[in-house]
Amino acid sequence: MQKEYDYLIIGSGLFGSIFAHEMTKRGKKCLVIERRNHIAGNIYTENIEGINVHKYGAHIFHTSNKEVWEYVNSFVEFNRFTNSPIANHKGKLYNLPFNMNTFYQLWGVKTPQEAYDKIEEQRAEYKHITDPQNLEEQALILGGKDIYEKLIKGYTEKQWGRSATEIPAFIIRRLPFRFTFDNNYFNDTYQGIPTGGYTALIEKMLEGVEVKLNIDYFSDKSYLDSLAEKVVYTGKIDEYFDYQFGHLDYRSLRFENEILDQPNYQGNAVVNYTERAIPYTRIIEHKHFEFGTQPKTYITKEYPEDMTEGKEAYYPINDERNQQVYQNYKTLADQLPNVIFGGRLAEYKYYDMHQVVEKALEVVKSEVFI
Ligand code: FAD
Ligand code: UDP
Repeated sequence: MQKEYDYLIIGSGLFGSIFAHEMTKRGKKCLVIERRNHIAGNIYTENIEGINVHKYGAHIFHTSNKEVWEYVNSFVEFNRFTNSPIANHKGKLYNLPFNMNTFYQLWGVKTPQEAYDKIEEQRAEYKHITDPQNLEEQALILGGKDIYEKLIKGYTEKQWGRSATEIPAFIIRRLPFRFTFDNNYFNDTYQGIPTGGYTALIEKMLEGVEVKLNIDYFSDKSYLDSLAEKVVYTGKIDEYFDYQFGHLDYRSLRFENEILDQPNYQGNAVVNYTERAIPYTRIIEHKHFEFGTQPKTYITKEYPEDMTEGKEAYYPINDERNQQVYQNYKTLADQLPNVIFGGRLAEYKYYDMHQVVEKALEVVKSEVFI
């Protein structure tokens, strides 16, 4: 017997919403269910005091994929925001990512050659490391001792709750390292923030799609499964399989918010606090994502936390042990032809938004050609 829906989609984040949009456009009937009391997953923004607040952490869209950029811009306009965070280390300010401004602030070097010579000196004692096995080794051979100790070690160990020697090297390779006076945090061709916030983007994607909030898939899984021909699951993969191979590790966050009766608190959207002694990693001043001029300002301190029952899983911890556990779950997932696992939690990948868009569109293509 024909079921009521073609697709039951678990989660109204970016992955679930793109999938729902594309399939609805193709005449399929979709039901999106969402555990939270709002749509948009971790890119949810809420308008407070006229400011679009990034409720689950700062989100800057960046990509070099023209198709992805045009795709997201087809729903809402994006502004010209370029992420240029400032690092505060013991009260001194440095530009990020690591570039000529940073090198000047650290050592007074003024030319690329002077900076290069200084960095060579800084990394001389780590020259023997040819195949970095962890974030610490990778950072030391990239920029040497001062950059590692002032701008990386403290931030990294707060963020991940473990020694930098236990964190995969690829995580620090996310950050550009360049010998130009360029404070753009990303190397990508396109970058911006949706005008009106990310919730507006997801609302557009979900236009005409049936969405039910405050429903946890696992509260009535077999009934919900019976409603649709296929399931698209964007929650945690270990939870889907009832943790039968054990819990995957995630890093969580706590956000401390304040509305301040002043127009401009820190003069920048993102200021990182890179020393270990300060318990938060960064302060976000949301209005600067959209060049806001409101009389008040809204700031958020981001405190990394261990993942415990009832907290949100924000970052997968892609070390070897967890990758092995994930592979066990993936093997089970591959045996379920009527369930699609997609997105940051279901694929246990440190995906940025553009990668989620790419992946969701790829999955849509393969569904259409089945
Ligand atoms: P999610 O947004 O997590 O959506 C999954 C949804 O499924 C959630 O709404 C959840 O409530 C729901 N769900 C889960 N389980 C169930 C269930 N059992 N029943 C019902 N619903 C369920 N990317 C960038 O490109 N740039 C950035 O600057 C950036 N900054 C980030 C900052 C932080 C602090 C974090 C955590 C991430 C950042 N990202 C950034 C990554 C970005 O958030 C993700 O790539 C993207 O949001 C993932 O979308 P998703 O749909 O896979 O997952
Ligand atoms: N990082 C750092 N110092 C900083 C900013 C980042 O050492 O001031 C390191 C840290 O290990 C972090 C990684 O670089 O986890 C990736 O940073 P990114 O800003 O990409 O993290 P996200 O935005 O995903 O939290």
